[in-house]
Amino acid sequence: MFERRWLTNNGPLVQEFEARVRTLVGTRHCVAFCNATVGLEVLGRAARLTGEVIVPAFTFVASAHAFEWLGLTPVFCDVLEATHTIDPDQVEALISPRTSAIVATHVWGQPCAIEPLQAIAKKHNLRLFFDAAHAFACSSGGKNVGGFGDAEVFSFHATKFVNCFEGGAVVTNDDELARDLRLMRNFGFAGTDNVVSRGTNAKMPEVCAAMGLTCLDSLNDIIECNRRNYRAYHALLGALPGVSVFQYDVREQNNYQYVIARVGPDAPLTRDELARVLEAENVLVRRYFFPGVHRIAPYSGRDTVPHLPVTERLCAEVMALPNGTAVSEADVQRVGEIVRTAFAHAPAVRQKLANG
Ligand SMILES: *Cc1c(COP(=O)(O)O)cnc(C)c1O
Repeated sequence: MFERRWLTNNGPLVQEFEARVRTLVGTRHCVAFCNATVGLEVLGRAARLTGEVIVPAFTFVASAHAFEWLGLTPVFCDVLEATHTIDPDQVEALISPRTSAIVATHVWGQPCAIEPLQAIAKKHNLRLFFDAAHAFACSSGGKNVGGFGDAEVFSFHATKFVNCFEGGAVVTNDDELARDLRLMRNFGFAGTDNVVSRGTNAKMPEVCAAMGLTCLDSLNDIIECNRRNYRAYHALLGALPGVSVFQYDVREQNNYQYVIARVGPDAPLTRDELARVLEAENVLVRRYFFPGVHRIAPYSGRDTVPHLPVTERLCAEVMALPNGTAVSEADVQRVGEIVRTAFAHAPAVRQKLANG
């Protein structure tokens, strides 16, 4: 890259990265972006979305912010208790004459209820997109995530399964959409001195593609490590009262990047208490997703708070545990031991937390 002195502007490494993703996912097009949020924004422009976009409330804030940034209105939908993904029946109930798209998140890499969403989108003539930020190398019904709906968006942020430092990609089988995404990613340039559409600067630089390519080379090793940790967490925490670990469908492919513990009402400590105990022990847990996106600015300032009981419960009860290649089996054992000990001394722990 440095010898070539080609550092950005659709260089050979970005092209190679796009080709590798395309091949892995099985879509006709992969358009790399500087990150997934801007990928979603450019997708919203390229698809000429208007009015309202139905999104889950249980997702990362970027799933809604990307569309709000375009002047569209995110409409928040509840999710299914079992899969944490958007509830298709409730999607249909939220469709209005202003709705132009459904953008569903494959939360934790767990694919959405794809067929019902496809049927609803078709029936109401809406675009269907997936925020697949968590779901690279996951499958649904044996088919790879990436080929569903009109387009899907991956994130390759440093915290995600495939790491480009910062990066994202929109994958699609729609030729026209892919052409517009490529134009808009690069200021609308169709050739030197020839700007043919509106656009922005959303390009992925070469160094990010190089990083992504090294991750793609060790994809199976990363999955193996994630799965080993996931199973160890499952064995340790799943045995504790009131705690369950989010289960992936073993018949499907998954990247096992997310280990999600649910701390229910029967547990000796609440999720918030347990998160504080773990943080005090230097364990980097995250209360993903807390609070729901509908409770975050600017959406929290709306006149009415939507009624989203499943989202509210999940936001109060789940947390993401550390995973990835930097986490060893011994680390997982330690987390298990901390939780077990905290539960065994729950009244004293609660008292100590209350005293600050
Ligand atoms: C990380 C994430 C994004 C944003 O990805 P960036 O590449 O950081 O912009 C969007 N949606 C979800 C669900 C995410 O987890």
